[in-house]
Amino acid sequence: MINIAILGATGSIGTSTLDVISRQSDRFRAWALTANNNVERLYQQCLDFVPAYAVMVDENSAEQLAQKLKNHPETQEIRVLSGAAALDKIASDPDVDYVMAAIVGAAGLSSSMAAAHAGKRILLANKESLVMSGALFMQAVKDNNAVLLPIDSEHNAIFQSMPGQLMTANSASSRQMGSLHDFGVEKILLTASGGPFLNKSLSELSNVTPDQACAHPNWEMGRKISVDSATMMNKGLEVIEASWLFNATADDIQVVIHPQSVIHSMVSYNDGSVLAQLGNPDMRTPIAHAMAWPERMASGVEQLDIFQVAQLNFQAPDFERFVCLRLAYDALRLGGTAPAILNAANEVAVDAFLNEKIAFTQIARVVEQTMERLTVHNVNSMDVVLSADQQARNTANELLQN
Ligand code: NAD
Ligand code: MG
Repeated sequence: MINIAILGATGSIGTSTLDVISRQSDRFRAWALTANNNVERLYQQCLDFVPAYAVMVDENSAEQLAQKLKNHPETQEIRVLSGAAALDKIASDPDVDYVMAAIVGAAGLSSSMAAAHAGKRILLANKESLVMSGALFMQAVKDNNAVLLPIDSEHNAIFQSMPGQLMTANSASSRQMGSLHDFGVEKILLTASGGPFLNKSLSELSNVTPDQACAHPNWEMGRKISVDSATMMNKGLEVIEASWLFNATADDIQVVIHPQSVIHSMVSYNDGSVLAQLGNPDMRTPIAHAMAWPERMASGVEQLDIFQVAQLNFQAPDFERFVCLRLAYDALRLGGTAPAILNAANEVAVDAFLNEKIAFTQIARVVEQTMERLTVHNVNSMDVVLSADQQARNTANELLQN
């Protein structure tokens, strides 16, 4: 039995992971489930999967959950923990084999790191871990022989399209293999749907609502990443994520708008070959891939009907309209704490937009002005990353007051 700790079990990725586990219950056990404060959903998941541990970061929620679990004979034995530190404990517990890192935002950083330090197989959905502290995270993966497998659909597709020998070694010892170009790779083609506002004019964008921004044409996701898809900050964060996962520079990564979201990304080679991974847009495919790797197993996703798809379209991204994408490339080129600053300012701005405090078009402005105001430092410790994160949050919040 393989024990999986699902960090962020009640979210979109967490729920899809549990769906895959329910189809593969002879091989995988949901050993721990964690959530921020959604008592009802975590309680239901505990009834369905009876994990050894349930964690609620919020203390009151943990008490409520513990009460509910006590009343049920089947769930009485589940141990309930609370507080953010419990996430790190779960992620590094000796009984855990795989950690699904599916907490949204910077809140997921510490537990992803804990999993890396404990040498786990990390199924990484939380892209913010790599964006904020890619150098430290990749080093921790390497030093502790952790296995890092990308869940983000594009990165999972790139992983599947990369030279096999590179990825086998890459998952274990990461960036020590030399340049991608030594393996014949010319470019990573990172696909993007373009989100719900691909064809809206700049003037229309200033009036869009949170619900419109969250209505993604192809994917069902949490609200934060849905807004990021609409601004294309999500693609920007993914460019940075890809640079760490695959030891690539900003120039090695080309964003390609592909509205159907059938090709999940591609890798082009110096002999003229382009390898792509295709499938229905359903996160259970990358989740099952990373769980079974290097084997394959059923995920519950329907086979792609290529005749129904019929057409695949591509276009270049418009950096004038999708300012966030440009800012993310800037942050990657600047290096150091710049991506952590970008990420934190974006989290504050997206939260303000979701709470209807600012317009959609102000998200990019808040991020850009925060980046302009702060000095970029070299990342040589977690403290440097966390202090850049905090400074950027303070600055973005100040900008929101004005
Ligand atoms: P979501 O909002 O649906 O779920 C987030 C989960 O994190 C929930 O279980 C929630 O309880 C937990 N959480 C939230 N704040 C927390 C905190 N402060 N401390 C501890 N736990 C907290 O998000 P999602 O769409 O599932 O995305 C999760 C991560 O996966 C994000 O980093 C996202 O970028 C990435 N991702 C998601 C998708 C997708 O299809 N949903 C695709 C690619 C990557
Ligand atoms: Mg993605």
